[in-house]
Amino acid sequence: MMLTEMPQRKLWQKKRQQNSRYKGAPFKYMDDKKRLILHICCAPDATVPADLLLDEGYRTEGFFYGGNIHPEEEFQKRAAAVAFLCQTKGIGCHVMPYDPEKWIGETKAFASEPEGGKRCLLCFELQLKAAAEYAVRCGAGSLTTTLTISPHKDPSVINGIGEKICSEHGLVWISKIWRKNNGFKRSVDESRKLGLYRQDYCGCIYSIRNR
Ligand code: SF4
Repeated sequence: MMLTEMPQRKLWQKKRQQNSRYKGAPFKYMDDKKRLILHICCAPDATVPADLLLDEGYRTEGFFYGGNIHPEEEFQKRAAAVAFLCQTKGIGCHVMPYDPEKWIGETKAFASEPEGGKRCLLCFELQLKAAAEYAVRCGAGSLTTTLTISPHKDPSVINGIGEKICSEHGLVWISKIWRKNNGFKRSVDESRKLGLYRQDYCGCIYSIRNR
């Protein structure tokens, strides 16, 4: 363990203790491979993964991309909900500055694609790439996403994109299917209990038409 890691570890330990699920639980020794960035697509979808990753001993930091979200007021609502959720779970949180132009420029060729089509695959890739770049910058060794909690998304496709991006960035992809064991229902129940903001469309300007 590097000496420079000590303050971060202590901070993580304190945050973990703030999470009521861990009150009185013994501190578990972590190694540096357990520093993980959790790509968060929205706060409700992160409720279950945040707890389970802490259970597995990961020092987790949430990461919210948000360039795909339209309009900006909606981005602000979702970013605030992500920050609140991370604080509630006792994990770190990083929200990227809002940059919709970049996302629109990258995806414009697929503007007329239906939801679930090529534009969405590219959208996942852009989000996970940004999360991987952040993980490399802050020295985390592992990456995963909350996207596989959704019953509307194909977890094997998402995990495949994650694997590829991690291999390109020298990271370990933690392959998960969060919707297993009633994960989606549990996330809905907990979001209600916490009073989290729940959106009624996926996020981008094109998905508003499917409301
Ligand atoms: S519908 Fe959702 S996943 Fe698909 S491109 Fe829009 S924001 Fe991304």
